[in-house]
Amino acid sequence: MATIFSRIIAGEIPCYKVAEDDRHFAFLDINPVQPGHTLVVPKKEIDDIFDLSADEYADLQRFAHKVAHAVKGAIPCRKVAEAVIGLEVPHAHIHLIPINSEADVDFRKKAEVSAERMQEICNEIAAKF
Ligand code: 5GP
Repeated sequence: MATIFSRIIAGEIPCYKVAEDDRHFAFLDINPVQPGHTLVVPKKEIDDIFDLSADEYADLQRFAHKVAHAVKGAIPCRKVAEAVIGLEVPHAHIHLIPINSEADVDFRKKAEVSAERMQEICNEIAAKF
């Protein structure tokens, strides 16, 4: 069965898409830790990010690098944190989270962002990509 992220990539489930190329896809996390929290995924369905080949992993990071610059350009922040967790969704992904302090990366705390604001943030990041 396809993962939820494969279904998002296929357009079967809606998302706030910020960027895409032939092998990668980036969209806003539906339950963001901070406004602008973005997920970067390979279109290839694989659970553990470290089961990608070294080249696939490098390509994913290259794409994430570009997305991170778009996030930084759209959301005022000191840094864009990058994290890999992968315990909830078995489809490799990188979290990009705009932060001003270490405390801003706490996966137990979620930001409340309206659907309207999510769409604005999505548009702003997409425009910077
Ligand atoms: P992890 O697998 O790294 O522990 O966390 C998975 C992340 O995916 C979580 O931050 C969660 O909010 C996000 N997520 C789970 N399901 C969906 C979904 O259907 N749409 C979006 N946009 N994000 C999701």
